Amino acid sequence: MELKKIYLNPEKELALIKLRHPWLFTDAVQTPTDAEDGELCDIYLSNQKTFFARGYYNSKSKIVVRILTRVPHEHVDQKFFEKRFRELKTQREQFIDPEQTNAYRLVFAESDQLPGLIVDKYDDVFVIQIHTLGMDRLKDLVVEALRNVFQPKTIYERSDAQVRFLDGLTNNPSQLLFGEEPTGEIMVKEHGISFYVDIVHGQKTGLFLDQRENRKALQKYAEGKLVLNCFSYTGGFSVSAALAGASKVVSVDISKNAIAASERNFILNKVPAGKHEGVVADVFDYLDSCKPGSFDLIVLDPPAFVKNNKSIKKGMAGYLQINEAALRILPENGILVSSSCSSYVTDEMFQKMLTIASHRTGCSLKVLEVRHQPFDHPFNLDFPEGKYLKFYVVQKTQ
Ligand code: SAH
Repeated sequence: MELKKIYLNPEKELALIKLRHPWLFTDAVQTPTDAEDGELCDIYLSNQKTFFARGYYNSKSKIVVRILTRVPHEHVDQKFFEKRFRELKTQREQFIDPEQTNAYRLVFAESDQLPGLIVDKYDDVFVIQIHTLGMDRLKDLVVEALRNVFQPKTIYERSDAQVRFLDGLTNNPSQLLFGEEPTGEIMVKEHGISFYVDIVHGQKTGLFLDQRENRKALQKYAEGKLVLNCFSYTGGFSVSAALAGASKVVSVDISKNAIAASERNFILNKVPAGKHEGVVADVFDYLDSCKPGSFDLIVLDPPAFVKNNKSIKKGMAGYLQINEAALRILPENGILVSSSCSSYVTDEMFQKMLTIASHRTGCSLKVLEVRHQPFDHPFNLDFPEGKYLKFYVVQKTQ
C-alpha cells in the first residue's frame, strides 16, 4: 500500500541525513501535508524522489514524525514487529542467564528504534506501555507479534503515563490485551533473587528493571553494614543488601503498599525477620530524624525530581537536600549510594550537586563506582535523550 508522503525542509535535510535522530520536529518537514495524525507515512528528501525514512506523523506533537525504519519501503506490519522482537530477544538474552534472571525490558522505545513503545517481559507475562498516537494505532500488530514470537500467558497494557497527553491522546488505559487476567502478584527472578511484582497496581510496569544490575552492584558494599534504603518501593535494594550479608536493612517509602510488598519480598527470600524493618514515611522527614552514625550505608533512589527543563532548579534542590541529609548521618568511611532517574540531570550536574552536599557537610567524597542504565535499557548515541539513569557509589572521607 502506498503511504502518504512528507517532504523534508531543504534547509534542514543535510543535517538530518547526517544525524540519524529518530525524531523530526515541526520545522524539519514541509507543511501542510495530507497525512492524518497517527498515520504511517514516507518521508522523502525535498527533491521528492529520494526516500529518507518511514515513520508515523502527528501534527499535535512538536515531534511531528517519529521514525520506525530507514530501510526503503520496509513494510510496517505484523512481520516487521515480529522481526524486531526476535532481534531484541536475541540481543537481550545473550547477556542473561535464564536460570537466574527471567525479567527484562524487551523494547525501550526510541533507543530500540520502536518509538513510543515499551515492552517489559516478566517471565511469560508481558507488560506494554504506549506513549504516542502513532504507536497506539499499531497496538494490535504489537500484540499479535508478541503472541507469535513468545507465546505469552498474558499481555497487559499499562499506558497510564502522562506523556500520552502531550501527543494528543485522550486516554491512558490499564487493561488486559491478551490471555489470562493477572490475579495478584507474579513472581520473577533477578540474579537469583525472587521478587513479587504487581503488574496491575505497581508503579510503571511493576518493577524498576533498570536498577537490576545496580542492585547487584550494591551487594559488594553491603556485608556487615547497617543499611538504610530510601525510596525503597518493593525492597529491591533492601533484599539485595540483606542477602549480601548486611547486618540490618531499614526500608523507607511513603507508600504503605510498597512497604508491605517489601516485607513479602523479604519472606520470599527467607531473610530472617530481625534483619529488616519497613518504615512508612516521607524520606525528607525520616532523614532529618536520624542520628549521626545510625547507618553505615545509605541508598537514595528517588523518583525523578526533575521532570522537565522548567523544574531543574527545584528538582536539583531536592536532590541536594536528601544527599546532604544522608551525608550528615553517615560516619567517616560511610557509603552513600545515590541515584537519579531524571534524563534532565546530566552526570556533571549530579556530581556538582554531590560536591556541594559534601562541602556543606564538611567532608569530601571518593567516587568508588559510577554506573548508568543496563543493557536492556540502552541509549543510542544518535538519541542521547534516552540516557537517564545515574548511580554513584561514594565514600565519605575527611
Ligand atoms: N529503588 C526502588 C525504586 C524506587 S521508585 C527499586 O529499586 O525498586 C521511587 C519510590 O519512592 C516509590 O516507591 C515512591 O512511593 C517513593 N516515594 C516518592 N516520594 C517519596 C517520599 N517523599 N518519601 C518516601 N518515599 C517516596
